[in-house]
Amino acid sequence: MSCELKQKERAGIINPIFTCQPCGAQYASIGVKDCIGIVHGGQGCVMFVRLLFSQHFKESFEIASSSLHEDGAVFGALNRVEEAVDVLLMRYPHVKVIPIITTCSTEIIGDDIDGVITKLNKGLLKEKYAGREVHLVPMHTPSFKGSMISGYDVAVEEFVKAFAKKEDVSNEKLNLITGWVNPGDVTALKHLLSEMEVDATVLFEIESFDSPLMPDGNATSHGNTTIADLTGTANAIGTIALNRYEGGKAAEYLQNEFGVPMILGPTPIGIRNTDIFLQNVKKMTGKSIPKSLAFERGIAIDALSDITHMFLAGKKVAIYGNPDLVIGLAEFCLDLEMKPVLLLLGDDNKGYKKDPRIMALKENVDYDMEIITNADFWELENRIKNEGLELDLILGHSKGRYIAIDNNIPMLRVGFPTYDRAGMYRYPVVGYAGAMWLGEQMANTIFTDMEYKKNKEWVLNVW
Ligand code: SF4
Repeated sequence: MSCELKQKERAGIINPIFTCQPCGAQYASIGVKDCIGIVHGGQGCVMFVRLLFSQHFKESFEIASSSLHEDGAVFGALNRVEEAVDVLLMRYPHVKVIPIITTCSTEIIGDDIDGVITKLNKGLLKEKYAGREVHLVPMHTPSFKGSMISGYDVAVEEFVKAFAKKEDVSNEKLNLITGWVNPGDVTALKHLLSEMEVDATVLFEIESFDSPLMPDGNATSHGNTTIADLTGTANAIGTIALNRYEGGKAAEYLQNEFGVPMILGPTPIGIRNTDIFLQNVKKMTGKSIPKSLAFERGIAIDALSDITHMFLAGKKVAIYGNPDLVIGLAEFCLDLEMKPVLLLLGDDNKGYKKDPRIMALKENVDYDMEIITNADFWELENRIKNEGLELDLILGHSKGRYIAIDNNIPMLRVGFPTYDRAGMYRYPVVGYAGAMWLGEQMANTIFTDMEYKKNKEWVLNVW
């Protein structure tokens, strides 16, 4: 009986769980107001990422490409960055922030985007756009390193580095770095903070990705984090980065550079982690946790008690996706007496070994659990098809849907990208509301499976 953390043993990847670093930087970029990123690389690096965003949120987002071609790939293509910045500024008069996001090809050829930004600041921006507020932010996100997760982490740090500015007085706000979450999560987090009467800067504020269709026919969505929000991060009373691998670096930067105290995690999935999150908010702000939240907690615990012992206990689960999400889900499953037997993390971040949550799993789990890093979907498929892994439930994003379908295993869609179920981005997985929703959705997914497989489905008549 053990919990093992190990690297995938094969070379190569069969059906990846993650995409590459520039995707994460693009996700952070669309969370900033008046911002359009330029991805310095082939235009596929934008096209497929935009498609993922659109599939997941059923919205459209604006991201530009320097559209590298053969000549640029050989001789360098900084001229295309210069042209792209100019075209973007001409075409979009509202744009103030332009991250320049590198890719595998432009990092390999060694295009000096920091140098071209200095050149543009001294030249084009002074001459042609004098008087206009424009910020060019370099983001180095080669795809041969890390994953979309580390790309998001890099981008959040670069945005904060570019704008955070210390003032003499504190703004008395809390920085909340949400990590790679959904609009429903942001709504849930803002609700918790509002109940505690905490004034917070939510970075990156993507609640608006659930956009209305209005009579004026607006066709694109964008986030609401402003330059002022980013500037003010240096003057906050503290930072809570909910996800260690998705914003943790920025929190560390604010602490080291400006003395803004930080708390890393926990990803507030489940009752236990939401309790800790609220205690952390209390510790940092001095605000008390009101009775209204104790009531919400009670409602969630009541709902979960109804399903835990009778339906969820002992159920074997495989979970894949963003590491903070996967670990948070695993911890929640354990609290619900379930058995997460396989956790798949799609990159090989060296920090996983020292992650206190993984260390706690290794110490406390009393059955066989595997945590695979640098994992792909074959790790899941092979265990099911060839190694006799029996599962009651899969938790993960839509890219793994065929493993569930082909092997008749019930699956709850959680994470990014989820495109084969309607409106999932609207429901939180964090907070007490998220705990209740997740628990009940897991139960309902298992109920449907019991009905289709005629597996003790009569129990549902007498529950
Ligand atoms: S792997 Fe390289 S070429 Fe492909 S999308 Fe990522 S950055 Fe672009």
